[in-house]
Amino acid sequence: MKTDLIVGIDLGTTNSLIGAMDAGFPVLFADADGRRLTPSVVYFPADADAEPVVGFPAARQRALHPARTIFSVKRLVGARAGEPATLEAAADLPYALTGKPGESARVRVGGARGDLLPEEISALVLRKLKADAERALDGQTVARAVITVPAYFNDAQRAATKRAGELAGFTVERILNEPTAAALAYGLDRLDERSKIAVYDLGGGTFDLSILELNAGVFQVLATNGNTRLGGDDIDAALMNFLAEKFALAADSDAFPRLRELAREAKERLSTETETPIYLPFQTARSEIALTRAELETLVRPILEKTRAHCLRALADARLAPTDLQRVILVGGATRMPAVRALVGEIFGRDPDTTQHPDEAVAIGATIQAGILSGAVRNVVLLDVTPLSLGIETFGGLTNVIIPRNTTIPTKAGELFTNPVAAQQAMRIRVIQGERELARDNWTLGEFDVEFQPAPRGAARVGVQFEIDANGILHVLARDTKTGQEKVVKITSGAVDVADEQVEKMIAESVEHAFEDYHGRLLAEAKVKAAETLAAVRHALALAGGQLDAAQRAEIEAQVAEVEAALSAGDDLARLQKALAALDAGTQELATLLIEQAMDEALQRKGVL
Ligand code: AMP
Repeated sequence: MKTDLIVGIDLGTTNSLIGAMDAGFPVLFADADGRRLTPSVVYFPADADAEPVVGFPAARQRALHPARTIFSVKRLVGARAGEPATLEAAADLPYALTGKPGESARVRVGGARGDLLPEEISALVLRKLKADAERALDGQTVARAVITVPAYFNDAQRAATKRAGELAGFTVERILNEPTAAALAYGLDRLDERSKIAVYDLGGGTFDLSILELNAGVFQVLATNGNTRLGGDDIDAALMNFLAEKFALAADSDAFPRLRELAREAKERLSTETETPIYLPFQTARSEIALTRAELETLVRPILEKTRAHCLRALADARLAPTDLQRVILVGGATRMPAVRALVGEIFGRDPDTTQHPDEAVAIGATIQAGILSGAVRNVVLLDVTPLSLGIETFGGLTNVIIPRNTTIPTKAGELFTNPVAAQQAMRIRVIQGERELARDNWTLGEFDVEFQPAPRGAARVGVQFEIDANGILHVLARDTKTGQEKVVKITSGAVDVADEQVEKMIAESVEHAFEDYHGRLLAEAKVKAAETLAAVRHALALAGGQLDAAQRAEIEAQVAEVEAALSAGDDLARLQKALAALDAGTQELATLLIEQAMDEALQRKGVL
């Protein structure tokens, strides 16, 4: 990566993330433990000479040392001591705030460190993110950053955030609105001019609804409304109280912090599961209960409902009806809850766009903005097109086009493939380019294997996605949808930049060979079908062949032999098609026997026969 690198940072109330553009792609950096999310929490050890601890290890100190574990400091950025909003914020916090009335509020972190400004604490989080990025970049210094803030932050809050960045050793190139960052991550800068979108952001502690309008390539905030005291934490608290009652936990039990953790984990699991067990051993007579998604949804409905009024107010402020919006996007970890998605759908009369990770969208957008500023992303609409079709080779040697020629880039398309052979463990992805029906006549741009869980024939699901970015780089992603195992391969040249003569030659050849190519495709398809049919017939003969008489068996065996002969004869399509049709017709009775046998077995199992 070049020295003009600029990183993008989502400095969140609950969690923070950092990323940078890498060859046209926004990439978020992981810390030494492989985690991309850093809790925005700083723990100050009692020994004032000891280094403050940031992130997960700090978050773990929250229950033990509440007065010295500082979280949610973003709520205090730019706050003045003694003002009602500051006093209100201080009331919920287990650590102390200080400062002379009218001056900036400070946080008492204990010991000789004195009282720190909120931005001085944010700077420690930013410093940790900077170190993570530098490690991920093999020691390269990271000195420039884009940092996001809520759209409603005032000048003082923005200035304080900038100062936090500077204290951490960054030159802050831009302070970016979070909803704008999210819109960039969702690729909405490519919508038509004057498109209007809503960004529904429900995080751990805050809710924001922003309405943006795309104007000359820049997002303008038309309206924003929200609640700085509404989010996943409220859901955790409600669930914790519900569980305390179920476990019959005494009101003064010291198991509450643990129960809050359990509640949060259960809530997160219930976004993908419909029921989950919760264990709280050694506290009361009951150590386990089962919680269903339906119970959670009933419990959180009143909390989620509060977001409705904010959405309606923002729409009214922008003088818009839901139908004036082109898109509604989701941001914040809590929007992973199906109940939130359903509610957003209900409020806006359209399904929200869920194509991005809601908890990473702001960081990804900040990274894209950083890329635009550093020149790594060209901020121009490129009306380039793909000169030739791009696809992959499928079973039988055929070309499967994923992005047809003349598609405007940037573009993204994909397809789901399955395994043609039982118990197969990997699929070879051969990326090809060209207009010919048979893969071998096209050009190979790259090849790789994607592993998947062995499954019966046709049961595996491998998604293959092609994305050509604005720089003409093709990114091929293949994912086993069952295990989530994936591989991404970058093809840096050839996808778009092909010499004109070569394009002309390829197209001329595809026209010239159109007839034989068509024949070739039919032959390849017939061969695949023959292999499938032969396997099925052999299987059926083994299971139910005994019920046929000798003459019928001999006839099927002769038909099988003819299909095999036609296959090894090579290119005789007519012979293969005829042999296949005969085998199809000749095995009708065998197929019926097989079905009857299966039904008998099923009835026997049920004790009917
Ligand atoms: P954020 O502020 O965007 O990092 O969001 C943090 C909040 O999202 C916390 O309350 C998390 O418990 C919540 N969250 C994260 N993942 C999930 C999930 N899968 N289902 C429900 N809530 C989640």
